[in-house]
Amino acid sequence: MTGGAGFLGSHLCEQLLERGHHVVCIDNLVTGSLANIEHIRDDGFRFVPHDVSEPIYIEEPVDFVFHFAALASPVDYLRMPLASLKAGSYGTHHALGLAKFKRARFVLASTSEVYGDPQVHPQPETYWGHVNPIGPRGVYDEAKRYAEALTMAYHGQQGVDTAIVRIFNTYGPRMRPNDGRAVSNFIRQALAEEPLTIYGDGTQTRSFCYVDDLIRGIVALAESGEHLPVNLGNPDERTLLELAELVKRVTGASSEIVFEALPVDDPMQRKPDITRAQQILGWEPEVPLEEGLSRLLREQGREPITI
Ligand code: UDP
Repeated sequence: MTGGAGFLGSHLCEQLLERGHHVVCIDNLVTGSLANIEHIRDDGFRFVPHDVSEPIYIEEPVDFVFHFAALASPVDYLRMPLASLKAGSYGTHHALGLAKFKRARFVLASTSEVYGDPQVHPQPETYWGHVNPIGPRGVYDEAKRYAEALTMAYHGQQGVDTAIVRIFNTYGPRMRPNDGRAVSNFIRQALAEEPLTIYGDGTQTRSFCYVDDLIRGIVALAESGEHLPVNLGNPDERTLLELAELVKRVTGASSEIVFEALPVDDPMQRKPDITRAQQILGWEPEVPLEEGLSRLLREQGREPITI
């Protein structure tokens, strides 16, 4: 598991260990953290500090390679654009090379960002996207698009058993409070009774998936024989204004909502078409946004206001 000490990677490590697998967690801790994995007490778990832009070698047999190492938050890839490109290019090469060498199934963590600022709504996997390659988000979006191309090439030319999951906005415990994301910012701001910062006028939309739902879908995809990309996310689409109001209600905060500049190339709408996941994996999300936000608060030792 590359990126195993990150938000999604650490949840996936736990889920795989629970299912009886052994997990080698590879992470350079640039955006991941030991705090995400220090509670794991399992003889089947091993942490290897390593930068995936360098070749990866693992002694033991490997059944699955999950490539989750990435600088997924805008604050991170804007600060470290080259590291973002390297994780998607060299990192994916090395992870695929390992999968090929070990005859393992490879699972690429891709993203809804491959659709960019979509002109098709909701987004099915057949949509090719609308991405600005030289804009600030290009270092993330294009890294993931390249990683998808590479994955399909290893599959088609080298016969590697591969899967691609396009992950839409996901939230849950272990998101970094300062990762700059809407959910983490709003919760942090609400709990501190500070103003909630909406970028733009708040009419842009996202669809937020609770982490447990997402992890269940990723495991189902890993265990399937599917090779083409599969969207995983919650199709319950909300405006950012709705999200801010909801966070205020669930936390009981009296914070005001303030409006700030919209970042460059910020997609105006995003909602997964999950028909393929439903048909191929029998998967759909189960945790409604209100419930997921309440769980997140309880994890932080706060009692949510029931709605
Ligand atoms: N956003 C916001 N206030 C914040 C953080 C983010 O209004 O404090 C907006 C951001 O501009 C975007 C949406 O929330 O339109 C989702 O942003 P996030 O960084 O969570 O994810 P992504 O842009 O990758 O979907």
